[in-house]
Amino acid sequence: MDLAVAESSKKIVIVGAGIFGLWQAYLLAKTGHQILVIEQSPEPFADAASQYAGAMIAPFCEAESAEPIVCELGFEAAALWREHYPGLIENGSLVVAGARDQGELKRFARLTEGHEIVGAEDIAELEPDLAGRFQTALFYKDEGHMITPRALIDLKKMAETNGAQFIFGKQWSSEEVKADTDITIDCRGVGARSELSQLRGVRGERILIRSQDVELKRPIRLLHPRHSFYAVPWDDGRVLLGATLIESEDETPMTVRSALELLGMAYALHPGFSEAEILELSAGVRPSYPDNIPRVTVCESGRRIFVNGAYRHGFLLAPMLAAVTRGVIGGPLVEHPLLHFQ
Ligand SMILES: Cc1cc2nc3c(=O)[nH]c(=O)nc-3n(C[C@H](O)[C@H](O)[C@H](O)COP(=O)(O)OP(=O)(O)OC[C@H]3O[C@@H](n4cnc5c(N)ncnc54)[C@H](O)[C@@H]3O)c2cc1C
Repeated sequence: MDLAVAESSKKIVIVGAGIFGLWQAYLLAKTGHQILVIEQSPEPFADAASQYAGAMIAPFCEAESAEPIVCELGFEAAALWREHYPGLIENGSLVVAGARDQGELKRFARLTEGHEIVGAEDIAELEPDLAGRFQTALFYKDEGHMITPRALIDLKKMAETNGAQFIFGKQWSSEEVKADTDITIDCRGVGARSELSQLRGVRGERILIRSQDVELKRPIRLLHPRHSFYAVPWDDGRVLLGATLIESEDETPMTVRSALELLGMAYALHPGFSEAEILELSAGVRPSYPDNIPRVTVCESGRRIFVNGAYRHGFLLAPMLAAVTRGVIGGPLVEHPLLHFQ
């Protein structure tokens, strides 16, 4: 494919309706391409790792553990979310630590930017239900989050409104590429492992609860030397508790150890969570490359493009990967930190 050729409408098949496939479908349909999305699961999102995500748009906080490029591109991606998705909740995020773990809070502050150190009074104002529980917190006012299942449904609708078509319940295989398809964009997540030898799965577990007693307004990260924990408020009293990060491709149900760990952290955040209903305990596998940085990989002279390796940044970076693919298809994008040619 001549990357310098001006953009014209192309017939594009997108395989996989997770967060990557949905953003590709939306942005490319909006650009004027003819988009068909093929998804193996008969029920939308039932087989997608994306359904388990905390869906925090938190490029500042991610700097604690992610490569700098993830955070840099995360800022651009956050701007795309703001521009395109009205469901983004922009209440910022709050990071706290127990009295014994103040060293963790200092370490987190050192490794990240974009925060304000707030005291007990500000915490009470930001999160009335946490009043009196923490003396100091880090407030990242420019971060956001969304309600995961709603965001997936909304993105599908946004793609459809722009002309994309979806087929659910059909398993795609590379043998069936049709002659009239200009480009196939492969967003199968861990389903593409047989063709992407470097891809691995990283297990994550999370719990969905409904609490009548504790109301949160924004994602809260509670730091601990041994556990990583966040609580993300949804609607209707629901709170997502996440997430474990385990080097394993095991997709079997959540273990008792992980449930104890996450519920123990929720209790430490606020004992009122002990009265909450447990709605779901689930485990999924994050598709990840060795460097944990996602990639747009262009193969077969541009007729096949893999978009994969979301790791724990699928929601954060999905718009950026869609923008890169659009640049490649429309030309003349040939160089970008997320772009690879094979
Ligand atoms: C517990 C947990 C918490 C997480 N928290 C966050 C978070 O807070 N923020 C964040 O950004 N990310 C988070 N992640 C990671 C994120 O969910 C994933 O990395 C990301 O959703 C992967 O998106 P994807 O679109 O690449 O893959 P998927 O969502 O897995 O989508 C791939 C789709 O392809 C389909 N498919 C596969 N093979 C075929 C085939 N042959 N034919 C047709 N369809 C096929 C699958 O059915 C699936 O629907 C979390 C993950 C877990 C497990």
